[in-house]
Amino acid sequence: MQKKNTIGRRELLRRVTGYGAATVGLLVLGSSAGCGGEDEGPNCNDTSGLNPQQQSTRSSLGYVAVSPHGAQKNCANCNFYTAGGANQCGSCTLLPGPIASEAYCNSWAAKA
Ligand code: SF4
Repeated sequence: MQKKNTIGRRELLRRVTGYGAATVGLLVLGSSAGCGGEDEGPNCNDTSGLNPQQQSTRSSLGYVAVSPHGAQKNCANCNFYTAGGANQCGSCTLLPGPIASEAYCNSWAAKA
């Protein structure tokens, strides 16, 4: 008697869920390793390298990561901003630490 080359429903389910779990695991690993987005840029909100006084200066001037004025008024078009290199944060002559081009603070001044 010839044996059928088929699998049962139980085996099919086990295989499908096994592959599904492996796929989900790989996706999670890929995303946590930072392998995936073209829109990933530098983290200009990381102020862990600043001392408390420098961090206080940032907050006292009302630095926010995204300007409430949109592209009309943001760091990119502020007189005190210097753009960073490719995939790097910019800097500011008034505020210490990394500065995002789309950020804003209360000392914004139009580029001269
Ligand atoms: S002064 Fe404020 S708005 Fe201007 S670049 Fe510095 S942080 Fe950005």
